[in-house]
Amino acid sequence: MKTQRTITRGLALRLLVIAAIISSMLIMPAWAGNGTGQSKIPLNDDEVSYLNFTREEEKLARDVYLLMYETWNAEIFARIAVSEQQHMDTMLKMLDKYGLTDPASAERGIFNNVELQGLYDFLVAKGDDSFIDGLEVGVIIEETDIVDLQEAIAFTDHVDLVTAYEHLIEGSKNHLRAFVDTLEKQGVTSEPQVISQELFDAIIDIP
Ligand code: ZN
Ligand code: ZN
Repeated sequence: MKTQRTITRGLALRLLVIAAIISSMLIMPAWAGNGTGQSKIPLNDDEVSYLNFTREEEKLARDVYLLMYETWNAEIFARIAVSEQQHMDTMLKMLDKYGLTDPASAERGIFNNVELQGLYDFLVAKGDDSFIDGLEVGVIIEETDIVDLQEAIAFTDHVDLVTAYEHLIEGSKNHLRAFVDTLEKQGVTSEPQVISQELFDAIIDIP
């Protein structure tokens, strides 16, 4: 499936600036709502792509952690899998609100988005090697989620979507802290895998 994500970051940013200029020139019709999150302005193609992607990305996190729990029998994976299910539910509510079809398969480990299928396959293979690898898979997932959610926020001005994505980011930060703490107890000091050192430090330094 070709999505907006195939566009490079630089090009995506330029398109975003152009979109912002165009939207600021448009006169908003009376039915367009007031940004309270109650408006039902249809989502544009980018917003639909990111919403679909995020629904499946949260499923990826849940499915990987369920498997890691079965493999390593460590409570951290079961606990965070419950949270990922809640994140999936939040995204499903948004899909329902805008009358969109749920892209997520009911089957564990199966994804419609080929990028996510590839990531899932890679992560479960790595996480199978050792408990520490399983925890490091958690770090990769949570950092990836944070980056992708920030990108999703940049592509929408629907307040309800922004609020939902921000809620998921806060969850991801908590999960990242939990995985880094648990690695520390295993004698492993984590390095950021996806996000910047600056953001990583800012997240981890919060007790
Ligand atoms: Zn999540
Ligand atoms: Zn998470």
